[in-house]
Amino acid sequence: MNPVIVVGSFNVDHVWRCAELPAVGATIAGQYSTGPGGKGFNQAVAAARAGARTAFVCALGDDAGGALARQLAAADGIDLRAEASEQPTGTAGIYVDARGRNSIVIGPGANGTLSAAHVGSDPALLAGARVLLAQLESPVETIEAALALARQAGATTVLNPAPANASTSISLLRLADVLTPNETEFAALLSRHVGERMDAEAVAALDGASLHGLCRKLLPHGSVVVTLGSVGAFVSHPDEATRGDAQAYYRVGAESVSASDTTGAGDAFNGALVASLANNAGTPFASHVRFANRYAALSTERPGAAVAMPRLAEVQERFPG
Ligand code: ADP
Repeated sequence: MNPVIVVGSFNVDHVWRCAELPAVGATIAGQYSTGPGGKGFNQAVAAARAGARTAFVCALGDDAGGALARQLAAADGIDLRAEASEQPTGTAGIYVDARGRNSIVIGPGANGTLSAAHVGSDPALLAGARVLLAQLESPVETIEAALALARQAGATTVLNPAPANASTSISLLRLADVLTPNETEFAALLSRHVGERMDAEAVAALDGASLHGLCRKLLPHGSVVVTLGSVGAFVSHPDEATRGDAQAYYRVGAESVSASDTTGAGDAFNGALVASLANNAGTPFASHVRFANRYAALSTERPGAAVAMPRLAEVQERFPG
């Protein structure tokens, strides 16, 4: 049984660090590195290392990238449920300049072929889940089906609406019991679905009552957790369902760490949040958010995304109590 199911993407990241981002027509040299990525995989690794037995549902090509996914999932004890795709395994080409700015091209490949049929192919998997977590680097109809099936099976559904430019619909959002946008994604969703224009940079500075009001308009019957980077997170519940919390809305401050690479901080937060929700079902929601905050903060002290995910014991040692 896997209390956590993550449905989403696996990519092989190819990274070039260069002095400047290449201009059109230019050929430049950069320092190359490669490693696993994809929001789905990063979040599955975080959930597993945070202490939850985790299944990862994805699509992989019949190639070296697919083999890498299998090897890494096994190393972290993740129950990999991969659909075989005729497309190559997903890739990302990432240029990073000396100032840390980047340009990224994603080749969805197999991730773009993940089918709803595959997600629903093992009813026992869904029946055994307490929480299903999905993002938007897979076909939107597959994510809708995954959330609907999980809800039907009695699991809590968590949707991380990332990346910000992915297409969303009200019907998709309503399938989430918990929605976890970062500031950019929150601003994009507000403009698309609430008709409210706001700069992502302005979100963290809003007062609690206003932020709560916006969250309620966006997801009237579900909880919203807006991650605010180095500021922490904001939580908003419907009045009638506060998930064990005393207040319908509140902020949780970020932990103070020496952040050196925040790539994948949101993925760390989401994976840890669902692991805590699945493992400690009876405790107030605020305790899960506090754990996710700690887990994500620690992940920023190391370079990389999936490879930087801390283990439960490290989080407990760093943040006792
Ligand atoms: P994303 O990676 O999607 O942009 P955020 O930047 O909002 O997501 O970060 C997600 C979470 O990671 C935050 O809510 C916070 O808990 C943690 N975090 C991010 N940056 C820092 C930081 N500099 N110091 C402490 N915690 C951080």
